[in-house]
Amino acid sequence: MPKLPDFSHPLFFTLLIIVMFLVVAGRYFLIAAIFHFSFFVIGKNKFTNRRLGKKPLDKKQFYSEVKWSFVTSLLFAVAGALTTVLWQKGYTKIYFDVNQYPLWYLPVSLVISMLIHETYYYWLHRWMHKPKVFKILHKVHHDSNTTSPWTAFSFHPLEGLLQAIILPLTIMFMPMHVYVLLFQLTIMTFSSVINHLEIEVYPKNFHKHLLGKWMIGATHHSLHHKQFKYNFGLYFTFWDKVKRTESPKFEALFDEKTNRNKSVKKEEVLETEGSK
Ligand SMILES: [Zn+2]
Ligand SMILES: [Zn+2]
Repeated sequence: MPKLPDFSHPLFFTLLIIVMFLVVAGRYFLIAAIFHFSFFVIGKNKFTNRRLGKKPLDKKQFYSEVKWSFVTSLLFAVAGALTTVLWQKGYTKIYFDVNQYPLWYLPVSLVISMLIHETYYYWLHRWMHKPKVFKILHKVHHDSNTTSPWTAFSFHPLEGLLQAIILPLTIMFMPMHVYVLLFQLTIMTFSSVINHLEIEVYPKNFHKHLLGKWMIGATHHSLHHKQFKYNFGLYFTFWDKVKRTESPKFEALFDEKTNRNKSVKKEEVLETEGSK
């Protein structure tokens, strides 16, 4: 490995934050833009039956979402830079040699880290829906009632901070190859964009599939933004299933959006409930 500068030095630390910000914000912007153009520009008329939100993309909402997403990206960049310093000082279990642990550990560590992230986020998210906490931490994210790919990182800085700490904490205790860590961060961005797309991209009956039923998608998370009291998960549905917080409307809405022939009362399913 090439010799790296001491990132705890203020100059290098600042430079590292700038580089990480460009990577995190660039990745968010690129993935959101690809989904936006594929589904709302090129495929504008192709996915109308799979659309979950009723309203077209609101320009004011778009600017607000991009603004908050860049703030979140900056917070993620600071967390990334701090993690790099911790790694340089020997406080993390990040490793670079794939042979340091058995190869099977690469996918296993990814799954374990995602399960830790899921558990942390589900309970954090439940807590953020307590009325007093909601107003301070989580309202910014829910200002997007009809979400879009740009909603993916649209969080209040305090919520962004709480989200940013879990991965650095995980790798202080759990060995993770650096590429597995970067892969999880990319999955996180993709999954957030897909979940806020407001167009169901998964195939028919995916919600009943052996693996698909455990994955959150646009329908699942769209119901969270419209009903508030259900579907708190991040990547997976298991906590919502175990704690019985999965929306009772989920299966019917998923069926409706992925099955052209089935008619379900759209307005009833999409009705906004309990807005705060
Ligand atoms: Zn929420
Ligand atoms: Zn959301």
